[in-house]
Amino acid sequence: MPVDLHAHTTASDGSLSPTQLVARAKEVGLSAIGVTDHDTIGGWDEALRAGAELGIHIAAGVELSTSYEGGRFHLLGYYIHPGSDLMQTLARIQAARADRNVEIFANLRELGLPLEEDEVRAIAGPDAQLGRPHFARAMIARGYVATTQEAFDRYLADGKPAYATKAVLTPQDAIRGIHEAGGVSVWAHPPLNRNFSLDELTDKVGEWRDWGLDGLETFYSRYTPEEAEWARAMCARFDLLESGGSDFHGASKPDIQVGVTHTGGPVPDAVLDAIKARRSPKLFSMPTKRAALPSCSQCRQSVPPCDAPGARRR
Ligand SMILES: [Zn+2]
Ligand SMILES: [Zn+2]
Repeated sequence: MPVDLHAHTTASDGSLSPTQLVARAKEVGLSAIGVTDHDTIGGWDEALRAGAELGIHIAAGVELSTSYEGGRFHLLGYYIHPGSDLMQTLARIQAARADRNVEIFANLRELGLPLEEDEVRAIAGPDAQLGRPHFARAMIARGYVATTQEAFDRYLADGKPAYATKAVLTPQDAIRGIHEAGGVSVWAHPPLNRNFSLDELTDKVGEWRDWGLDGLETFYSRYTPEEAEWARAMCARFDLLESGGSDFHGASKPDIQVGVTHTGGPVPDAVLDAIKARRSPKLFSMPTKRAALPSCSQCRQSVPPCDAPGARRR
């Protein structure tokens, strides 16, 4: 049965509890669901219990916020060990996120769009970490904007006036941390970083692969056909694992459904099998660097194919 390897719960900015998410996965006929909350594994325990009860495999993961070269990038880490050092990193990111929320409240106040913490907290629920989708919903409730999209486009998106920076990791840190925790690293939805062209992102895929990146999302609810095509080509060219899912959040992104990607359907289970096979059998000792790809005899680039005349792979 197919799978969906990217979804959020109330442990971050999703609107379904882990139990509800797993039940939804069962309803729509999936055999596995990725629980990949932003910078926390707080949803794992409940999801694993529900999964055991309903016979749904939990691809236990985390979606790490990173920043690099003026861009912000999400790195998914699957099957990381909950006793690893990465958990301290997550705690640091949480602290940075709390500071950032204080900044967003201040920015909104300055823009004449005040929100009280209580009203945003009421939307998020008692246990969730506050995130931008919660701010957006509070702004809709106040009549500041009509939709979440408008809240992001005008105020909350990267570089907009209420935005505040958060990431404390680079993608390289994230990949290393995920590997040291025995996990598998997947670059989430690369083409959604729209301030970079696909050509620029291609260069980054090559660079990050040299850092040990294991895979990238080739299935995603919001990919255009061109983006999906690009992602598949990247996996073929750089020998990366395919991954993906819906990025289901529930109420804040009501157009996204569990088990529905750009194809209109879920992710084949072979994708999950390949990720599971990459998990480190020996925790904490996985080398960060993978074996180098064959390099071109002309341009010395480590990545085939190369157009240099007379080039041959070696
Ligand atoms: Zn993401
Ligand atoms: Zn996500």
